[in-house]
Amino acid sequence: MKIASVRATPLNLPVTVGSGARTKSTFLSMCLVEVELDDGRIGSGITAITEEEVIASIVNDIAHHALVGMDPLRHEQVWDKLFWLLTPRGQSGYASHAIAAIDLALWDLKGQILGQPVWKLLGGARAQVPVYATFGFAFFERDELAAAAQAWVERGFKRLKMTVGHHALQRRDEPRPLAQVIREDVERIRAVREAVGPEVQIYIDANCSLDYFHAQALAQRIEEYGITFFEEPVAQNDIPNLAKLRAKTSIPLAAGQNEGLASRFRDMLAAQAVDVVQPNACISGGYTQCLKIAGMAAAFNASFANGGAWPHHNMHLHAGLANGSLVEYHSVAVECCKLVFDGLPEPTDGVLALPETPGLGFRPNRERVAELAKRPGSRGAGKA
Ligand SMILES: [Mg+2]
Repeated sequence: MKIASVRATPLNLPVTVGSGARTKSTFLSMCLVEVELDDGRIGSGITAITEEEVIASIVNDIAHHALVGMDPLRHEQVWDKLFWLLTPRGQSGYASHAIAAIDLALWDLKGQILGQPVWKLLGGARAQVPVYATFGFAFFERDELAAAAQAWVERGFKRLKMTVGHHALQRRDEPRPLAQVIREDVERIRAVREAVGPEVQIYIDANCSLDYFHAQALAQRIEEYGITFFEEPVAQNDIPNLAKLRAKTSIPLAAGQNEGLASRFRDMLAAQAVDVVQPNACISGGYTQCLKIAGMAAAFNASFANGGAWPHHNMHLHAGLANGSLVEYHSVAVECCKLVFDGLPEPTDGVLALPETPGLGFRPNRERVAELAKRPGSRGAGKA
């Protein structure tokens, strides 16, 4: 049994963001990777929050030629070969996304070959995982945000995540002082807390869009609203700044969804910089590397949760491992996955039940993917 081909399809997916009073049509990018064996079996993986055309080129022009003829069950051998091929001097970036998508496809194949779902091969710690719903996007006005939060609670979700910071540092072309951005964020968080009551857990995510001073000022002003964690509060996941912030706030800090190197998680943990590490299986080197990061989190008695969306791939990791926990049910990413895959499970009362079918338990729909792949490239399109 050998790898016959590794191919990537860059996708630019049309999605509708929001609910109730306000919706917005936009696009989200994803790169689908399929590994085909010489017996015709195919495994699939994805990556996202990157430039999908770049990843497709890495996979099709470099990884394919390197992996043809290798044994698909030897995931460590494949991972190590890709690591030294694509990141020989510790570069991270695009290479980690490409390795992640290929690694997920290999685990999907491993499950198909062995007749077992991936979550059991990863350890089978539990058959269902709790989710939190990411619903609170920047384009909502304050009252619409509160109404959307209520609507998600009525759908059975008791854990809700909203964005803050709103790419304030990134959008230097817009006259939006950080002080003004966080002042409005305080009001938005208050409106959501008042709308959902004290029992619902609220998470916030700055997507690395604030500097230390404004992240700290925001944390200080929202402590009374009972925030469960503050994700990616500072630019670049800067570890000394995270550690300083963590020492100053009672709100737990979370980070790591877009990190490529396991050593970055080691450094966060050693510096006591975060409460929750969030490697994403679709980005942080696939299941193979996330297993190692989760092991470090366990050794440091830190929490381990999913950030960066793509719940259907990350649910296998969090069901598989004893210290697995929350999976991010990001409404836009879920809509993307529904365009690409058939057989996706839906959460009930805030919980996703893992499939018993071999591999990932869901497959890309070839016809729809072919149609979607005709869309033009999406440079600058939305990133979850
Ligand atoms: Mg995030």
